[in-house]
Amino acid sequence: YGDFNSKIDYVFKVVLIGDSAVGKSQLLSRFAKNEFSMDSKATLGVEFQTKTLVIDQKTVKAQIWDTAGQERYRAVTSAYYRGAVGAMLVYDMTKRQTFDHMTRWLEELRGHADKNIVIMLIGNKCDLEGLRAVPVEDAQEFAERENLCFMETSALEATNVETAFLTALTDIYGIIS
Ligand code: GDP
Ligand code: MG
Repeated sequence: YGDFNSKIDYVFKVVLIGDSAVGKSQLLSRFAKNEFSMDSKATLGVEFQTKTLVIDQKTVKAQIWDTAGQERYRAVTSAYYRGAVGAMLVYDMTKRQTFDHMTRWLEELRGHADKNIVIMLIGNKCDLEGLRAVPVEDAQEFAERENLCFMETSALEATNVETAFLTALTDIYGIIS
């Protein structure tokens, strides 16, 4: 029974943002607990979940924050962004509007967060390829223009979820260490 906390070298705060129902909470639950629930209720209460991992032989505690149903424009408070070193900007690749809204989420993020924040654009629900409403080229072009990393994920099938978070956390580590 060791004091695990004493071995933590870094704590990285990462925020999840994007419209309601794009899958933010399920991405978090997949990453932190390897769980998925089809009928996830609107997120209530849970502020963040943590996952501890090793990057470059250092113990990194990722503290991933989830919006508690505050996804309306400008409803996310500045406290949510405070201290964040990473952000996952999530849209639903079957709902064009959620992608179109990335511009204003990014604007809001850049208005509140540190200018060195690592931002990952995520097109979630890639298991629903037949319902795709956002061509991968559109997202790639947006990501290139805005200087973001980009990945398509499925929280349901666990596709790229670990990779997306690990890529962001490794980029953060590269900036901070
Ligand atoms: P949030 O409002 O952004 O936190 O979205 P949720 O995580 O609550 O997910 C909204 C709905 O989308 C729920 O019914 C989830 O089960 C569903 N969902 C989330 N991720 C995926 C995914 O990768 N694939 C599919 N098919 N459904 C998903
Ligand atoms: Mg949620």
